[in-house]
Amino acid sequence: MGDQPVSAALLDALLPQTQCTRCGYAGCLPYAQALISGEADTDQCPPGGDHTARALAHHLGRAPKPIHPRYGLERPPRVAVIDESICIGCAKCLPPCPIDAIVGAQKFLHTVVVADCSGCELCLPACPVDCIQMVETAPQPLDPIEMSHRQQLYRTRYLAHQQRNASRLSARNHRLARQTPHPP
Ligand code: SF4
Ligand code: SF4
Ligand code: SF4
Repeated sequence: MGDQPVSAALLDALLPQTQCTRCGYAGCLPYAQALISGEADTDQCPPGGDHTARALAHHLGRAPKPIHPRYGLERPPRVAVIDESICIGCAKCLPPCPIDAIVGAQKFLHTVVVADCSGCELCLPACPVDCIQMVETAPQPLDPIEMSHRQQLYRTRYLAHQQRNASRLSARNHRLARQTPHPP
C-alpha cells in the first residue's frame, strides 16, 4: 500500500472505465465505492483482468485473487460492429451505450465508431434484430499512458452520457407536470 489514502476515486482510477456492469454494479465508480465499503471483492472486473484485481488487492491490503469466472472471462479486446444490411434504424441501441459510441438517428442506419467502442456489450441485448456482433481487435497497447488516456476518454464520455440522460428526464418530467391538470 502506498502513502495515499485509499479512496473510491483512487480505486476508480485503476478500473478500465468500460462501465460494462459485469462486476454487478452500475459502473466502475459504484464498484470502487463497494470495494471501499467492503461489500465487493477485488475479483469482479473481467475487463480489468488479473492485473487490475492484483492492483485493487494491493491498495486495499487484501490477498490477491484472480478474476472469478462468475463475473465473466478476461479476454482479448473486442468492439461492436453493426450489420448495416440488417439494421432497421430503430435506435434502441443508442441509450444503453454508456459512452455514446453508436451514431445514427431514428429510421436511419446505425454504425459503431470503432475507435470509441469499449467493448462493453451493453448494446447487444437492446437490438431487436440481433444485428450487432462483437469482433476481436488487435491487442490494446499496454503502454500505461495510452491506457490512462483511454480510461479518461471513457470516463468523460460516460459522464456526458449521464448528464444528457438526466437533462432529458428532467425535460420530460417538466413537460408532464405542465400537462397534468391542476385540481379546481
Ligand atoms: S469495467 Fe470493471 S469495474 Fe467497470 S463496470 Fe465493467 S466490470 Fe465493473
Ligand atoms: S457500441 Fe456497444 S459495445 Fe461499444 S461501447 Fe457502445 S454499448 Fe458498448
Ligand atoms: S438496435 Fe439494432 S436494429 Fe436498432 S438501430 Fe441499433 S443496430 Fe440497428
